[in-house]
Amino acid sequence: MSDSCCGTVAVEIEQFATPQQATFGQTGDLPVAVIGAGPVGLAAAAHLAERDIDFLVLEAGEQIAASIAQWGHVRVFSPYRYNIDAAARRLLEADGWTVPDSDWLPTGAELIADYLAPLAKLFGDRVRLGARVSAISRLGYDRVRTAGREQAPFLIRLDDGTELQARAVIDASGTYTSPNVLGASGLPAHGEHEMSVDHALPDVLGADRDRYEGRRVLVVGAGHSAATTLLALAELDNTPITWAIRAGNATRTYGGGDADALPARGALGTRLRAHVESGRIQLMTGFFTHRVNATGQGVEVVSRDPSGHEQAVTVDRIVSATGYRPDHSIAAELRLDLDPVLGSPRTLAPLIDPNQHSCGTVPAHGVDALAHPEPGYYAVGVKSYGRAPTFLMATGYEQVRSVVAALAGDWEAARDVQLDLPETGVCSTDLVEAQEQRVGLATGISGGLLSTPLPLATVSATAESGGSCCG
Ligand SMILES: Cc1cc2nc3c(=O)[nH]c(=O)nc-3n(C[C@H](O)[C@H](O)[C@H](O)COP(=O)(O)OP(=O)(O)OC[C@H]3O[C@@H](n4cnc5c(N)ncnc54)[C@H](O)[C@@H]3O)c2cc1C
Repeated sequence: MSDSCCGTVAVEIEQFATPQQATFGQTGDLPVAVIGAGPVGLAAAAHLAERDIDFLVLEAGEQIAASIAQWGHVRVFSPYRYNIDAAARRLLEADGWTVPDSDWLPTGAELIADYLAPLAKLFGDRVRLGARVSAISRLGYDRVRTAGREQAPFLIRLDDGTELQARAVIDASGTYTSPNVLGASGLPAHGEHEMSVDHALPDVLGADRDRYEGRRVLVVGAGHSAATTLLALAELDNTPITWAIRAGNATRTYGGGDADALPARGALGTRLRAHVESGRIQLMTGFFTHRVNATGQGVEVVSRDPSGHEQAVTVDRIVSATGYRPDHSIAAELRLDLDPVLGSPRTLAPLIDPNQHSCGTVPAHGVDALAHPEPGYYAVGVKSYGRAPTFLMATGYEQVRSVVAALAGDWEAARDVQLDLPETGVCSTDLVEAQEQRVGLATGISGGLLSTPLPLATVSATAESGGSCCG
């Protein structure tokens, strides 16, 4: 390769080593670094442990599954049988663990207490808390340098300056910490960063009640996280609620009512519609958030639509429920091949396109769909999906099973990808409805991940027009 524009003339054509070709030369004794101790990072650890591969899990939070802990009060829609990784189950059962009821829909807090915390405990100090990864590179190699690259260890820098080396990196750091902005064009609204904006699914009826009760609240977004927050707010006395969406009407959020393929979704939409029609919730349509500024009367939120027409509302609190996006900045010195739309690995994108797939129709995929030109680096879990809202824990568990098999050199197992997600059964509509009556409203993946422009899922046998996952 030419060293500089005026240097050596001979040009060496860069060839990316495929993961299979990578030998991990002098890196063989180093651990595999797993970034994030969420369900998928911990599942990766379980598979690594089973294959006797040394690993270290680096978790930014002061507790495991710190992102799920943020929505611990929300009940998921997929029952336990889809939420527990097979390798994790084997390790836990060998340790005398009591398996949760496979039909139970846990809250985020239950998922942590009854499954993830016992799992992390098995790994002892191989799970490091308060270890936020700020950057990943390769020792002695910036992104441009090629020769011998795949033999160089990964260099992982934590935000306290500590540096670690690893033979491979499984990045399961999720997307929860990088929510979409309020601004309608994908850019922050003017003044957004100077204001206090709450992100999706605050615990309106629990720990966060005082923040909302008696205040004027604006909820921005058309997904089920917005709907769930609105329904909770509607239970508070003396709390005026405004709901702003970009679309011209809220039909998508309301879903199909009694005719909805997912009864829980239909019920949610029906209740929301009733609140809008009664005037309890003021709906503002065609709302393209453009500017947020403090006034003597509160926070003024101004919409400017593409034609330049403005409308505004003044409130005390804003809840932004506009979805999430992946933050690839920690891997900026690595060679990533990302889909320009979703920000997922390019090969994975067509398999998870929300226009084509609901969660139950995403095909099984593993190491080959997750590989980047950077051998040994894999973004897995919800981060691997980029902006696609169709991710399920079960999908992530199969991802890490495959990736770890590949790291172990077991390519037959790595490529034998399987996923047992009954197309509608995973969403357990009957279960959701039944459990809802017993313990309160369930919120699904769409609640957390559906962003404004995505249609609600059409979960059918053919799933011709996809949408958000199960909701
Ligand atoms: C409200 C809601 C409901 C959902 N319901 C369901 C459901 O019913 N079924 C389902 O299958 N899925 C559901 N999901 C999707 C769910 O988020 C994922 O399935 C799951 O949490 C993804 O796991 P993960 O390990 O990929 O990422 P996360 O759970 O987001 O974990 C990422 C971890 O990485 C850590 N981290 C982040 N950045 C760094 C860093 N730089 N360095 C070190 N650590 C870092 C975080 O603190 C976190 O602990 C729901 C999501 C939401 C928001």
